[in-house]
Amino acid sequence: RVKSEGRNGFQFFEDEMHKRAQSRNQLVNELRSSLARGQFELHYQPIFEARTLRPRGAEALVRWRHPSQGLLYPDRFIGIAEEAGLMESLGQWVIQKACADAVSWPEEIKVAVNLSPAQFRGATLFDVILCVLVETGLSPHRLELEVTESMLLQDREENLLLFRQLKNIGVSIALDDFGIGYASLGSVVSFPFSKVKIDRSFTRDLLQKPASKAVVASIMTLARGLDVQVTAEGVEASEQLEYLRDQGVDLIQGYLLGKPVPCSELNLASAPHSGLREVTCI
Ligand code: C2E
Ligand code: MG
Ligand code: MG
Ligand code: MG
Repeated sequence: RVKSEGRNGFQFFEDEMHKRAQSRNQLVNELRSSLARGQFELHYQPIFEARTLRPRGAEALVRWRHPSQGLLYPDRFIGIAEEAGLMESLGQWVIQKACADAVSWPEEIKVAVNLSPAQFRGATLFDVILCVLVETGLSPHRLELEVTESMLLQDREENLLLFRQLKNIGVSIALDDFGIGYASLGSVVSFPFSKVKIDRSFTRDLLQKPASKAVVASIMTLARGLDVQVTAEGVEASEQLEYLRDQGVDLIQGYLLGKPVPCSELNLASAPHSGLREVTCI
């Protein structure tokens, strides 16, 4: 009895794995044609100066308008696109579209674009960016690239060079999801980034967990020492915003002040102050 149950269990496991592999293969095939068919969209989430709640930027977040499954979020397809070798071209499309959209925004609003490891491995990232900036007419100072710690460290020397080139032409770099990576501090701080983004998990636990407060405090110390700005992501409550502002966080991003929306719905007016404590300007 035990034996047959075991076999049924295994059979079930095999079927399940088979189904998953099939739907994954199907998604890969659909991904291949989706770019040419114009099925990708960028949504933008506004980023606000903590002190004044004035908008300073917007992060481009890719979505896939799937013909039968509806709007898919990046967690569903970025990994697959990466493995299938499709991320370099999707990434190029994102850079192109984001810069084209941002040209019509007010001068003081930057556009932030997430990069994937595949885009680093392809040798042409610098040329792609330069080309897009020239074509769209977007000032390089208005483009910010978001990278994660782990990305930097594969081909460290090459990436260092690439970042210096980008910095030289005025493009800035933000370290995304900071604090959850495996990179050592020492290996990261030599990169010429100008901003760190505190990972959403720390913002979420901020008011419950002393450990998250400690992480935020140490990121603030590090950022001051390196003279880089700090953005807190995932801010959903005004108590979180006030705490982070008191800690000296420069920029705020999160559902509290604005969710990701299509470019046409992006509201770049100052966020309402209602419910928030008055800010004293220094
Ligand atoms: P990320 O770069 O850390 O982007 C922030 C994510 O947090 C976004 O999820 C955003 O919608 C979500 N978020 C923002 N504020 C809040 C909040 O207050 N509460 C909660 N619960 N979530 C919030 P999204 O759009 O699903 O993107 C997930 C990840 O996919 C991004 O994380 C980024 O790593 C990746 N991604 C998105 N677009 C691109 C892209 O064009 N290229 C590449 N390579 N990766 C992308
Ligand atoms: Mg990001
Ligand atoms: Mg992030
Ligand atoms: Mg994140």
